[in-house]
Amino acid sequence: GGDYKANAGYAKHMKKSGGAGASEFARTKTLAEQREYLPVRQVRDDLMQIVADHQVVIIVGETGSGKTTQLTQYLHEAGMTRYGMVGCTQPRRVAAMSVAKRVSEEMGVELGQEVGYAIRFEDVTSEATLIKYMTDGVLLRESLREPDLDTYAALVMDEAHERSLNTDVLFGVLRKVVQRRRDLRLVVTSATLDATRFSDFFGGVPVFNIPGRTFKVDTYFAKTPQEDYVDAAVKQALQIHLSHGPGDILIFMTGQEDIEATCEVLAERMGTLDDPPPLLLLPMYSQLPADLQAKIFESADEGVRKCIVSTNIAETSLTVDGIKYVIDSGFCKLKVYNPKIGMDALQITPISQANANQRSGRAGRTGEGHAYRLYTERQYRDELLAAQIPEIQRTNLGNVVLLLKSLGVEDLLSFDFMDPPPQDNIQSSLYQLWVLGALSNTGDLTTLGRKMVEFPLDPPLAKMLIFSEKLGCTAEVLVVVSMLSVPSVFFRPKGREEESDAAREKFFVPESDHLTLLNVYQQWRQQNYAAQWCTDHFVHVKGLRKAREVHAQLLDILKQQRIQHVSTGGAGWDSVRKAICSAYFYNAAKIKGVGEYVNMLTGMPCHLHPSSALYGLGYTPDFTCYHELIYTSKEYMTTVTAVEGEWLAELGPMFFSVKESLKSRLEKRKREAEEKVKMDAEMATVTAAKEQEEEA
Ligand code: ADP
Ligand code: MG
Repeated sequence: GGDYKANAGYAKHMKKSGGAGASEFARTKTLAEQREYLPVRQVRDDLMQIVADHQVVIIVGETGSGKTTQLTQYLHEAGMTRYGMVGCTQPRRVAAMSVAKRVSEEMGVELGQEVGYAIRFEDVTSEATLIKYMTDGVLLRESLREPDLDTYAALVMDEAHERSLNTDVLFGVLRKVVQRRRDLRLVVTSATLDATRFSDFFGGVPVFNIPGRTFKVDTYFAKTPQEDYVDAAVKQALQIHLSHGPGDILIFMTGQEDIEATCEVLAERMGTLDDPPPLLLLPMYSQLPADLQAKIFESADEGVRKCIVSTNIAETSLTVDGIKYVIDSGFCKLKVYNPKIGMDALQITPISQANANQRSGRAGRTGEGHAYRLYTERQYRDELLAAQIPEIQRTNLGNVVLLLKSLGVEDLLSFDFMDPPPQDNIQSSLYQLWVLGALSNTGDLTTLGRKMVEFPLDPPLAKMLIFSEKLGCTAEVLVVVSMLSVPSVFFRPKGREEESDAAREKFFVPESDHLTLLNVYQQWRQQNYAAQWCTDHFVHVKGLRKAREVHAQLLDILKQQRIQHVSTGGAGWDSVRKAICSAYFYNAAKIKGVGEYVNMLTGMPCHLHPSSALYGLGYTPDFTCYHELIYTSKEYMTTVTAVEGEWLAELGPMFFSVKESLKSRLEKRKREAEEKVKMDAEMATVTAAKEQEEEA
């Protein structure tokens, strides 16, 4: 196992597994035989004929029918790769990596050679690459450099039904590309029947259905609404495990925290039983190290039941064979734009009816199955949307706007969106970019904006990096940005909390969590990037290594952009804090009480997180800038840096002109916030009354 928390608590229940495939079928058949058996194989000739006859084709097929792994190979086998690469886009990084690996195995080649993948900050392709899996974001960035995408002979836009932000933007971009490049083949795939929208979008192109081979799934609803879906899922899983026949279990949870909780509680309950039948617990989420992710596809030993606990990645992106029982929490994590704070936040949200049906369907891939929904039939009917709202309509568009602007799209409202984003969102994204200095008063890209596009980073991070040149601290800021681009490197194992907290505190730079990250990285560098040093100091070596890779790639871009790589030397780190301030001044907060702050622009209350280095100051500073706000029990600022009031006035002049107006602005905001609370309360009473009326 790795050094990640994920498999620490229940390691004793994770049995060694042998074999290469996922099911009895996979165990006994060669990869070539498995390919033969896929539903898409039965219609291969017809399908390839349609693709030969039409430039754009929509392909619909059940999850697991072989769209993702086979279409690229068919195009290759049909000779497409003589003219260029076959590319395949995925909304999820994990899927891009995992599928590329599978296809390289099916073709018997080394990953990164004929078959490779590219995700942000990780390019596993080479001169030899013919089939390239990548995230939709990677292809979108490639279109900046190569508007006609000349290196590709064919593109498969996979998982279109997901309607991810970048896929939606790609739709608009590719519609233009296929008009300019008549030789380019485009295949759009979807796991849901609703493909007419896609077809219409490209002017009525053919839709090809892969006949499914699915089995009956019995669906059960909860009788009463469940308070705690983790607990309910654990109970349901145990009930299945102890009293139902063989077959693997797939549990849908929202994210890392509740997946780990589910695994831990399940393992704990199993531990209290007297010699229970063996259960192999397998978590699956995007931040899980790749070697542990791959385990969900391995077969368990004879007589051992697998229980996969996953995010909605297992809904349509990845197919695991042999699942007979599905347990559906009814929730997922979604990126939702919160206009109040002008930012995206990952929120636990009810799934849609379409999600629910996809989830249940996972139980009927290889035989009849059972799906247990941890919500009532009434909740399903009345509270779940028919389909999820496309990401483009609910997230911050900063990156997209910047990208489209540099693709020469002047009027964003007239761009070909399948479902245009709300005008408010476009406007507020334009405003944010203007505030950062990426757009001019007339809405054109500035020199700074043009440079920002070159970095695969969120606009404020790109700004921070570029601006740091003026302050003579690009070297330091580059490290900070790299560390912010990877998951937290601090390791806090169960049972050793105090010890690990003490180790973390030794890294503290009291005026800044950002500088604390810089400090960790610099110390690691001084130790020649040693793994042992990480273990000794409760730091994830994998996380740091990732940061180092990100660092190397950003450094390349800095050089290409002729931005100087300069260090403050011994001059102290105030300039680094100033650079942070230059990009995050709209996340400026002013003190209200001990550990209590209020956002200076929105009036939003925000709290210093107990893990912040700033507690080491012995006092809390008057002004801070923070990286993000997270909601748990309350609003917490994560990664906080103390800043000077004058810096805010200097670097964010449109907000903080002079101290006086700042104060009155603050008061005005506060008044507005109070009024809003009152309004909301009134609205709530009105709505409640209305609901009562309706129920009566
Ligand atoms: P679709 O895209 O239509 O959902 P896929 O091409 O992803 O279908 O899957 C086809 C088959 O390949 C499935 O049976 C699935 O289990 C198998 N498969 C896909 N990826 C892997 C992997 N990484 N390891 C093992 N089997 C895999
Ligand atoms: Mg697929």
